[in-house]
Amino acid sequence: MKAEIIAVGNEIVTGNTMNTNAGYIAKQIQTLGIMPKFHSAVCDNKKDIQDVLNKSIERAEVIFITGGLGPTEDDLTKEAVCDYLGKDLIIRKDLCDAIENFFRRIGKNMPERNKKQAAFPEDAYILQNDHGTAPGCILNTGECSIVLLPGPPKEMRPMLDHYVLPYFKSKINCNYYTIDIKCFGIGESELAEKIAHLLGESEKASVAPYVGDYEVIVRVTAYGKSEKEAQDIAFEIRNNISRCLGEYIIGYNQDTLENSVFELLQRHNYTIAAAESCTGGLISATLVNRSGISSYFSESIVTYSNEAKMKYLGVSEKTLDAYGAVSKKTAEEMAEGIKLKAKTDIGVAATGIAGPEGGTLEKPVGLVYIAIAIHENTFVYELRLTGTRKDIREKTVKNILFQLYRNLKQI
Ligand code: ATP
Repeated sequence: MKAEIIAVGNEIVTGNTMNTNAGYIAKQIQTLGIMPKFHSAVCDNKKDIQDVLNKSIERAEVIFITGGLGPTEDDLTKEAVCDYLGKDLIIRKDLCDAIENFFRRIGKNMPERNKKQAAFPEDAYILQNDHGTAPGCILNTGECSIVLLPGPPKEMRPMLDHYVLPYFKSKINCNYYTIDIKCFGIGESELAEKIAHLLGESEKASVAPYVGDYEVIVRVTAYGKSEKEAQDIAFEIRNNISRCLGEYIIGYNQDTLENSVFELLQRHNYTIAAAESCTGGLISATLVNRSGISSYFSESIVTYSNEAKMKYLGVSEKTLDAYGAVSKKTAEEMAEGIKLKAKTDIGVAATGIAGPEGGTLEKPVGLVYIAIAIHENTFVYELRLTGTRKDIREKTVKNILFQLYRNLKQI
């Protein structure tokens, strides 16, 4: 099934807002075997929206349109599409009541103009908006389905995941199965070399790597006569990939490094504390992204100066004098120091040169030492990172989580 994704909004076309909706929809629909073929972006203008629709109806079987469902004059998507299809918009009492309720919940009266968000053609399949006022809808016309979704990602994503995907899953004879295998600590080309014999397209499956924010993802899409058959093929390929890339795999599909580490802390019932220098609190900010972490995460101390490293963590003056703050030995003493002070099972630490200034020939920008002390063992890793100050700090945290995950997996 071929799909087109259209973003409506002046802010998208002018580059003031990144069109992240298109990427999200494209990724999600492929799990059902709906293949994105075209992306378009168009201004808040009725005729322009209809021009794009006219083209996409010829070349796609499902069209996803995001944005322009709001209550203001420039929100024209529904009007443009319904006018194009010759469908009348009728205000639905149940939807009007739901919007009114939404405003009541936030202690406001519904402005009169919001009523237009409750207007839909009689035959529209309504998509509930659990995070805003604008419902979406699916309109079927001839061979084509047109899905109208709100623009704000925090409204669009749950609507797609909870209502649109199940709708299509029930309609399509789903004989696809997709698994995203997430890898860390390996570049795309090295990864491709290791699984060269498994990459590519065949009648049974397609296997392709792509680069995520910090990880490389191998997407396996398998085809079968039934979903079960496709799933079996996908699992077999996943197992083959795991044999080649096992040490780099950090999770599957929606898994994140944070979540994978969380699950291992939970499994071992281990507590953790952090000593941060160049990360300046980012390790703890990342750990607390996961709800429930309070059972395992005790504290984090930002010890930026040498004095603070000595005072709060017990790093020795001798170590700092002999090796410097950015050194293997300092990282080791920081991790062991925080573990001791916080009385946790694990202490992690990072010390490095985030740049852009402060690098030397011997200790260049991007040189970072991370340490992980687990009970009696301490592991120290030297990282040579690239990018901006922000990149280096973020990559440091990801590397700590990755090495923590690797070590905890072996226990
Ligand atoms: P609202 O009721 O908020 O007006 P809407 O459905 O009319 O919702 P828009 O007005 O088109 O949506 O967009 C609202 C905001 O959502 C935009 O300012 C932008 O921040 C975000 N947004 C819109 N389209 C996209 C997109 N394709 N990708 C990412 N963000 C988007």
